[in-house]
Amino acid sequence: MKRCSHPGCSWRSIAPSEDAALAQFAEHLVESHSKTVDVDIPEGMVQIKLHEEGEWVTTTFEEARKLHDRSHDD
Ligand SMILES: [Zn+2]
Repeated sequence: MKRCSHPGCSWRSIAPSEDAALAQFAEHLVESHSKTVDVDIPEGMVQIKLHEEGEWVTTTFEEARKLHDRSHDD
């Protein structure tokens, strides 16, 4: 089971496999913790914030997943 690392966010994945959980989590990140700004964000790119105090990062959906996983490896 995968849990969201955002403070105050109680989201958890309910998925049969780690891969499915990751996919759900990536979707959750994009839906709940991403934003669209006025600057041009290319198609397929997302903006994510991995931590409450962190900076917004413009990246691809896939890279967002990797970045998030890395943030759990500390
Ligand atoms: Zn969350």
